[in-house]
Amino acid sequence: MRTALVVVDMLNDFVDGSLANPAAAAIVQPIAALAAKARSSREWIVAYANDAHRPDDVELRVFPPHAMAGSAGAEVVDELRPAPEDLVVPKHFYSAFTETELATLLAAHDVGRVVLVGQHTDCCVRHTAYDAFRLGLEIVVCPDATTVFGPGAHEPLAERQQRALAYLTAYYGARLWRSRAIA
Ligand code: ZN
Repeated sequence: MRTALVVVDMLNDFVDGSLANPAAAAIVQPIAALAAKARSSREWIVAYANDAHRPDDVELRVFPPHAMAGSAGAEVVDELRPAPEDLVVPKHFYSAFTETELATLLAAHDVGRVVLVGQHTDCCVRHTAYDAFRLGLEIVVCPDATTVFGPGAHEPLAERQQRALAYLTAYYGARLWRSRAIA
């Protein structure tokens, strides 16, 4: 059984573009370290789940246009650019599994555990975790390599992050591993 590092929505638009998140900068290096570790091990693979929206995607009823397919905003940030052997899965919904080939690809690589990193802990990571749970995969989430949306809401960032992580633990049995303990 192998482990997949699943990097969710670390795209230009989610870092400093149309849905910019000041909190995203802090998770780039931890994710880069995890990806390097994963690429060095036969027991791991790296999979990127990237928004690649079409103009009529339902999500754009809730959010302004972001990560439109083919645009620069939809590209992974330079520091985390995928390696040739990595899987890259375009998605149109919050979950990395909804109407994508991710489940098939993970099964083909004998993956039994996913380590979820990226954005946002309370949205795309959460919905991806639900589908991983549904598929019977072990779920790990890195608290220091995921983040919720940045400051601006009523609740401080750290509290929202804790609440999001607690949800993943309570409902999906997610284990929380700090990136340094893995990488
Ligand atoms: Zn989106």
